[in-house]
Amino acid sequence: MNQQHQDLIDRDRKVTFHASSHLRDFAHGNAPGRVITGGQGITIRDKDGREFIDGFAGLYCVNIGYGRTEVAEAIYQQALELSYYHTYVGHSNEPQIALSEKIIELAGPGMSKVYYGLGGSDANETQLKIVRYYNNVLGRPQKKKVISRQRGYHGSGLATGSLTGLKAFHDQFDLPLEGILHTEAPYYYHRGAEQQGMSEREFSAHCAARLEEMILAEGPDTVAAFIGEPVLGTGGIVPPPEGYWEAIQAVLNRYDILLIADEVVCGFGRIGADFGSHHYAIKPDLMTVAKGLTSAYQPLSGVIVGDRVWQVLEQGTGEYGPIGHGWTYSGHALGCAAALANLEIIAREKLTENAAETGAYLQRAMADAFGDHPIVGDVRGVGMLAALEFSANPEKREHFDPGLKVGARISAAALEENLIARAMPQGDILGFAPPLIATRDQVDEIVARTRRAVDRVTDELVREGALKALTAPVA
Ligand code: PLP
Repeated sequence: MNQQHQDLIDRDRKVTFHASSHLRDFAHGNAPGRVITGGQGITIRDKDGREFIDGFAGLYCVNIGYGRTEVAEAIYQQALELSYYHTYVGHSNEPQIALSEKIIELAGPGMSKVYYGLGGSDANETQLKIVRYYNNVLGRPQKKKVISRQRGYHGSGLATGSLTGLKAFHDQFDLPLEGILHTEAPYYYHRGAEQQGMSEREFSAHCAARLEEMILAEGPDTVAAFIGEPVLGTGGIVPPPEGYWEAIQAVLNRYDILLIADEVVCGFGRIGADFGSHHYAIKPDLMTVAKGLTSAYQPLSGVIVGDRVWQVLEQGTGEYGPIGHGWTYSGHALGCAAALANLEIIAREKLTENAAETGAYLQRAMADAFGDHPIVGDVRGVGMLAALEFSANPEKREHFDPGLKVGARISAAALEENLIARAMPQGDILGFAPPLIATRDQVDEIVARTRRAVDRVTDELVREGALKALTAPVA
């Protein structure tokens, strides 16, 4: 590492703390740092000038790739014209109006209005307030509980961190808050012993039955909403088993429970459709968008409100006056200008179609490279989202001892190959979400580098005696 890079990291250690990191180790120089200085296409560069293929598009958000001057221009021009004015009490700006029209058009029939935020967490916070307001206006103040899923990810605030179904986001924060519950994840690979013999469809019916049990146990008149990502993302990149969303929606409809589709990762092309909801025939009442909306050229999120909910919100302000909700930066002109330029690129370059086609190629390439690898238990994904789940004994789906940190070690080995693939926070899972501009050749390169990284760590595990399955051949 060059001295300039080292100096920057040392300065950073003194004054910044970082998400999902070991605070003490980082502050005291015992955990690595890195300063990213540039990006072009699917590649980023650090202060040493070292280049990495970004196999995770930042945090599954830089869908159009890095260094797009067209988006930079749009932001610059908008900043010259009008950098900001608030959007309270009917004030608007031209990019916000055009963007809302575009989003409603893409979201499809039944979707009415958009309200903006800056990130997925604040957008889901807005969703929770809408859900409460909706039931208060309808005279059902007891209908307030929200059901999320184990391994769901919906943000990291107090309420949205409660929606998130990952242990690390709850422990030591006294979460989840009361009234937020988690039902079983549609994680076919991790199905329990009693679900062993089930087909995917049967497992989906089982998940729906578990949800219904929870609703009945809580009392259907107390359950207001269900929130889910079309494809579980941060919880492990888990596409739903066949028939899952159909079965879940049937239960929600029976008890008049709103459905919030958290499209923060899937929205705007990631899985080869405009929205994950379109891919899986989900009919949400509310949708949350962020990330791919601007490809992270500006922070921007949105809540898309469907007709059914909108009617009640209108009725509510008729009765109670203006709604008491708002963010200073909602509908920020620069964010909306970036989003418009980004969506224009996605449409012009047919990146959603590329996510379907090159995404299918990515899924095949991963399956070919890892389908019978001795430490890979599951190869899964859809479109430009993929994951490898590692196992000490794939045949028996045995987990590694968590202390071995296999997922993190493989991610670090990939970094040695100048590839960023993300060790997902729970379990030994390596995640991939390349920019939607990725070509087949680039996919081949991602898979080749990953294969070298996985093989290297496999050899280490054998040498350490941690992988008995290989010292005695796998049955
Ligand atoms: N929802 C989903 C599905 C996400 O993946 C994320 C972030 O990864 C969020 C919400 C929270 O978004 P943010 O980190 O922008 O607050």
